[in-house]
Amino acid sequence: MLEAVSERLQSVLKKLRGEGHITERHLDEALGEIRRALLAADVALPVVKDFVARVREKALGQEVLTSLSPGQQITKIVHDELTRLLGGEAQPLRLKGFPAPIMLVGLQGTGKTTSAAKLALFIRQKLGKHVLLVPADTQRPAAREQLEQLGRQMGLPVLSTHGESSPEAIVRNALVEARRKGFEVVVVDTAGRLHVDEELMAELERVAEILQPSELFLVADAMTGQDAVRQAQAFGGRLKLTGVILTKLDGDARGGAALSVASITHVPVRFAGTGEKPGDFELFHPDRMASRILG
Ligand code: GDP
Repeated sequence: MLEAVSERLQSVLKKLRGEGHITERHLDEALGEIRRALLAADVALPVVKDFVARVREKALGQEVLTSLSPGQQITKIVHDELTRLLGGEAQPLRLKGFPAPIMLVGLQGTGKTTSAAKLALFIRQKLGKHVLLVPADTQRPAAREQLEQLGRQMGLPVLSTHGESSPEAIVRNALVEARRKGFEVVVVDTAGRLHVDEELMAELERVAEILQPSELFLVADAMTGQDAVRQAQAFGGRLKLTGVILTKLDGDARGGAALSVASITHVPVRFAGTGEKPGDFELFHPDRMASRILG
C-alpha cells in the first residue's frame, strides 16, 4: 500500500540526508518533490499545500539547516507532519453502555458487511468481549445472508432478524436481546446504497437515534481515492461519525484517501482493512503508518 508515494518520499529524504550542508534552495527543491509525490498519490491540493508549508516553516524556524544533521532532522519533521496528517494519535475503540453499540454505515461495495464481521472478530479476540452481529438492512436479504455466512465462518453469533420489517425494529430488538443474553457489544451493519441518497440518510439518522452508538464508523474503500473523502464529507454532514474504516488498503498503491480523509473531514481513520481474510483488519496507527511510508 502507498508504495509510490513511499518510494518517492524515501528517495528525496535519502538525498537530503546525504548532504552535509543544506541550503534553503536544496530544501525548496526537496519540498517540490514531496509536493509532486503527494499530488501523484491523489492527495487533495489544499492538504498538500498545507503539508509542505508546515514542513518548510518548521525546517526554517528550528535552525535545522545549520544543525549537524539537517537531513535527519527534516526527515523527523516530515515524519511528524505525516503522522499529524494521518490523524495524530491512534484512538482505542470506545465501548460505552451495556451493550456498547457500534454502528457501521457506508455505500454498497465498500466492504461494510465484511468489515462489520472483521470488527466483531477483532473485539472478540483482542478485547475478549462477547459481541453480537446485527444485520439491519431490510431491503437486501442478500446483505443479511452474507453477514450470517461471515458469522458462521468466524464463529460469531448473528441476530436473527427474519420477519422484522424495519431497521428501527431490528436495532431496538438487538439492544433488548443483547442485554438479555449478556452480549457486551453489538455491531450493527446498516443498509448500503450505490449512491448517497436522502432516504438512506434519514433511515441512518433514525437508527443512530435509537442506538446512540458509542462508535459510528463510515466504511470507505481506499481504492476510490477522493471519492472516499467525499463520502466521509456527505455522511459526516448528517451523522456524528467517530471514525472511518478504510478498506482495501492492501490494493491501494496511491493512498490519497488514507492521506487526506482525516485532515479534510476531521474524522480520523480508526481501522484499516488490509485483505479479504477475517484477520486482515487492524487498528490504524498514524505514527506507524508514517514510519512505514518513510521506510
Ligand atoms: P458491502 O457491499 O459494503 O457490504 O461490501 P462487502 O463487505 O460485500 O465487500 C465487497 C468486496 O470487498 C468483497 O469481495 C470483500 O471480500 C472485499 N473486501 C472488503 N474489505 C476488503 C479489504 O480490506 N481488502 C480487500 N482486498 N478486499 C476487501
